[in-house]
Amino acid sequence: MGRDVAKLVNSRLFRTCTPLDHNDLFEVESAKSKVRWNLPLQIGFFVYQYAKLRMLQFHYDFVDKFVSSDDYQLCEMDTDSLYIALSGNSLEEVVKPHLLQRFYRECPQWFPARSCDAHHGEFVSACSHGEAWNPRPCCKECSTFDKRTPGLFQIEFVGDGMVALCSKTCFAFGEKNKISCKGLNKNLNDIEKHKYLNVLQYRRNGRGLNKGFRSCGNAVFTYEQERASLSFLYIKRRVCEDGVSTEPLLV
Ligand SMILES: [Zn+2]
Repeated sequence: MGRDVAKLVNSRLFRTCTPLDHNDLFEVESAKSKVRWNLPLQIGFFVYQYAKLRMLQFHYDFVDKFVSSDDYQLCEMDTDSLYIALSGNSLEEVVKPHLLQRFYRECPQWFPARSCDAHHGEFVSACSHGEAWNPRPCCKECSTFDKRTPGLFQIEFVGDGMVALCSKTCFAFGEKNKISCKGLNKNLNDIEKHKYLNVLQYRRNGRGLNKGFRSCGNAVFTYEQERASLSFLYIKRRVCEDGVSTEPLLV
């Protein structure tokens, strides 16, 4: 072990040491000597808590209120989006019939309004009777404003199905695909539906490749690293026997 390594190992900041090449080369991890905590943590905290609150409201006070649990299945939810499977072609189509009028009445709380306040009554009446709604110019103005209002939802993706493996690791498919794969570079890896399905079927993690570069002194080195990705393990809820359904984790 070289002198440099010994010095690092004896430092109070030493954390771990890993021999890399027949004990000629070591990777030493040290703690930072100075940590500055000068970020306004309160802001980040409340942004996330309000976002979570909004997602829960959308699910419990809207989706679950108006749609029978036989007609929808929540697939995945994150900070600002959720994906649900529906038994019909649209959300309106699966709303409990006796709540349809109320559904349209409360719609502007959740989606950009399709009518202005003055024409809201007409909008509710037209839609709940299955008639086409023709927004007036004043209504369109409202919609345009609402589309940029925080807290309202819009359609992000419509497709035929999705494989949701674990947090931020999903493959939604249809006419187009929508992919999220935490920790994997989309340009470097062919991310395909069957790779996601394999994780479910064989109950084993997928593998991926990551490339990057880092500077060391006055030189820059590229590195390639095989990386565990597409994790089968899901820890936020208990995964049932079928490997797909989940139930609450009671601890
Ligand atoms: Zn109007």
